[in-house]
Amino acid sequence: MTVQKKTALIFTVITGAILLLMSIVAYFFMNVFAFQDYYKRLEIRGIITAKAKLLEQNRVDIEEIYSEIRQQHLESLPNEREYFFPADSLKSFIRANTNEDFTPEFFAQLAERKTANLKSGNYFYNGLYYYDHGTPYVVIVGAQNADAIRYARNLRWILIACFLSGTIVAYTTGIFFSRHTFKPVREITEKVKTIGVENLHMRLEDPTGEDEIAELTSTFNEMLSRLETAFETQNNFVSNASHEFRTPLTAIYGEAEIALSRPRTNDEYQHSLEVIVNQADKLQQLTDSLLNLAQTGFDGKGPKLKTVQIDELLMEVKHTINKIIPDNHVRIDLSQMPASDRYLTVSCNYQLLKLGLSNVIENGCKYSENKPVSVTLSVVDDKLQIVVKDQGIGIPAEELKYIYDPFFRASNTGKYKGYGIGLPLTRNIFRLHKGSIDVFSYGGNGTTVTLTIPYV
Ligand code: ADP
Repeated sequence: MTVQKKTALIFTVITGAILLLMSIVAYFFMNVFAFQDYYKRLEIRGIITAKAKLLEQNRVDIEEIYSEIRQQHLESLPNEREYFFPADSLKSFIRANTNEDFTPEFFAQLAERKTANLKSGNYFYNGLYYYDHGTPYVVIVGAQNADAIRYARNLRWILIACFLSGTIVAYTTGIFFSRHTFKPVREITEKVKTIGVENLHMRLEDPTGEDEIAELTSTFNEMLSRLETAFETQNNFVSNASHEFRTPLTAIYGEAEIALSRPRTNDEYQHSLEVIVNQADKLQQLTDSLLNLAQTGFDGKGPKLKTVQIDELLMEVKHTINKIIPDNHVRIDLSQMPASDRYLTVSCNYQLLKLGLSNVIENGCKYSENKPVSVTLSVVDDKLQIVVKDQGIGIPAEELKYIYDPFFRASNTGKYKGYGIGLPLTRNIFRLHKGSIDVFSYGGNGTTVTLTIPYV
């Protein structure tokens, strides 16, 4: 059963139970009040009957007056029955009794409490002790309560009809609301069905609210990002990695072979070892960046976050770049930032974000041969935006779509050193921080990399 149907059913059962409970309570109290009222009327009749009978016994011809009182003051009750006798003849009355409605409990209660009510089918009875100058008499008056019975029956049908129609309405509205509530889930399911290996780049529409669906969507998108990266990395990994490793390894092997082919002078050995150390250094760098890529791409745990001032982080990046590329012309521009400091605070993994930003800024310096690189900060759409702009060789338009493939290097990068891992790594890092990266280039006219990351 779908969650949608389950929700509608639970909604229906709850509404039905409430309706049923209310109906039972309403029916019960209606019965109690209607019957109590009737018993009260019977009691009054009993008293009047007793008075009339006593007057009769006193040989006052009261019959006429009695029937007149009855007609004028008491509405007639259907099929009325009256019994009147001295209390001490109650036992003989019980023995002689032919009315099957009377039960031993009724008489027992009457004897004990001096008043008792009885309902037998449509018939209602009230019995009471009436005292005349200290002498007790028993008067029992009974009549049919057809109205109350009819009202009760009508009420029963009305309540059953209300219960059934209420339950149906609850079910249909339940279905309607649950369909409405689960619409986003169905949309997600439909969209997810269309995502396969061949279009792993597709994402669910960015959620607007902050509900469970929005959380599900962004979690799913994050998972897709990880999958996509893992998939892309896996796709070309083995061949590219072997290729990248082979170059320094061949150099090391070749250099060592030459050195060993015949006895060499100390200087020659020194030179060979320097070449070998140089190539081994490359191998280490390569291994390090691959390790980083693997960690950011495959580790589903997400980065450990701490609150960082992005301007301070950028200064730190600049500081590091100054050491590696002393001739750089990186300029950090904060002039477009709003006055408040709070937009500069981000929650991030310091080392990873520093690595991502360094990659992009270093690329700017590297591919422009140290022409000016501007790093501009601003706030756009509730996110911090960092635009890194260089005046370098740019990226050929038709190759732009490959730049996030691990080991990909554009055709114009021949004389520049690199492994093609920086950008995929940076993209992973920004995605892990719920940010994004966008690379724009007009071919030979420089490159603009736009990075975004949410501020705290
Ligand atoms: P690399 O080590 O080759 O720089 P990256 O992953 O950082 O690797 O970049 C991938 C490719 O994207 C680069 O080889 C280059 O072709 C292109 N690229 C990245 N940034 C720039 C840039 N600022 N200017 C020109 N080309 C760039």
